[in-house]
Amino acid sequence: MRRIALSFALAALVAPFQAVPQAPLPRVLLVQAGHVLDRPGRPARGPSTIVIRDGRIAEVRSGFVGPTDAAFAGAELIDLRDRYVLPGLVDSHVHLTSDTGGVLSQLEEVQLSPAAKAYNALANAHKTLSAGFTTVRNLGDRDGITLALREAIRAGKVVGPNIVDAGTSISTTSGHMDPALGFRDDLRDTLDRHDNLCDGADACRRAVRLQVARGVDVIKIATTGGVNSRIGAGLGRQMFDDEVQAIVETARLYGKKIAVHAHGADGVKLALAAGVDSIEHGTTLDEECLELFRKSGAYYVPTLSTVNGYLERIAADPNAYAPAVRAKVDWRIRITGESLRKAVPAGVKIAFGTDAGVSRHGRNADEFELMVQNGMTPSQALEAATVNAADLLGLGQEVGTLEAGKRADLIAVDGDPLRDVTVLKNVPFVMKDGAIFKDQRGS
Ligand SMILES: [Zn+2]
Repeated sequence: MRRIALSFALAALVAPFQAVPQAPLPRVLLVQAGHVLDRPGRPARGPSTIVIRDGRIAEVRSGFVGPTDAAFAGAELIDLRDRYVLPGLVDSHVHLTSDTGGVLSQLEEVQLSPAAKAYNALANAHKTLSAGFTTVRNLGDRDGITLALREAIRAGKVVGPNIVDAGTSISTTSGHMDPALGFRDDLRDTLDRHDNLCDGADACRRAVRLQVARGVDVIKIATTGGVNSRIGAGLGRQMFDDEVQAIVETARLYGKKIAVHAHGADGVKLALAAGVDSIEHGTTLDEECLELFRKSGAYYVPTLSTVNGYLERIAADPNAYAPAVRAKVDWRIRITGESLRKAVPAGVKIAFGTDAGVSRHGRNADEFELMVQNGMTPSQALEAATVNAADLLGLGQEVGTLEAGKRADLIAVDGDPLRDVTVLKNVPFVMKDGAIFKDQRGS
């Protein structure tokens, strides 16, 4: 008896430290789907079977095949015959470490240890994956938290979406990524320790190289001020030509793409002329911006969801933002969507991105509704969150469509998302790399 009791006690002690037990993946999975949007942007297929081998899609067959077919004896069957199945969604702009926002997020920066933020990032990664987003691009945090999370997820130590990571974002001193904004001068040495601020071309080259040295996938910079920056410096251009050019040339030297935070049209033009890959927010696009988008082939990432975050926080607490920030928040609430309404008819390439962190994690799909309200068809919005975002992230061969050779990242929803994008707000089934993460069928 004593021996049994002891072994129970030991098991209880050891259990929390063991890796999450995961059943070995069956070699062949058959996903029977009533409708399949195998390539968003094109019409859906009717009844089909997605054949998955070792976590990758082997083929998408018309009609239903099952384990009773001799060719698939021993395969595991997943019945989604009454659902719409589509590729796992891609959010091109998140910040997994937090979604408190406003004054609270600034407090968090000086109150929470990197370890505490890392647990928050993991919890937010779960929310994101649960919402059907199997790939995200994390556009900036401190302390290397999502870089470490990216590695832990890749290694199978924890479960979460694929992460494409920018490390710490780069701006000038006093720019959007200056962590000392709004704090006492004598705290600068304590807060400004990430080497992500650069003034002058050489300093900007070094800032990029420091991120490359950390193993980032993409470089994120800010050419204009930010809504949440605690200075009244506005939302126009804040970098010189030679600084942006130095950043772009250095990133290209290492084969890295460049994502640019920019609100004012002057900062958008500066970045597009230098040859960057995406403009995030792009709140005041003019005709010249649209022309530069078309010429360069860069993507526009509208991040309309930020407005949801602002409105919810202000409703809960009218003092959620410092006065100088609140003025910019009110402006952004008024104007958001105008640029997208110009960009869509102008033929600008759009990639889905929420800026979750400003808005709530796990609510990423709210962006679809806002995109449709601002000029996109449901089909275009879905294409932006799959094919286009995958292309922007450099993962066009891996995710974004359900085709032979790609990762078996897929979701199922209850209704036709091409008729009503709000069905994407409630995703009952999520599979990543052939493993089921969420299955609420029948519940
Ligand atoms: Zn952002």
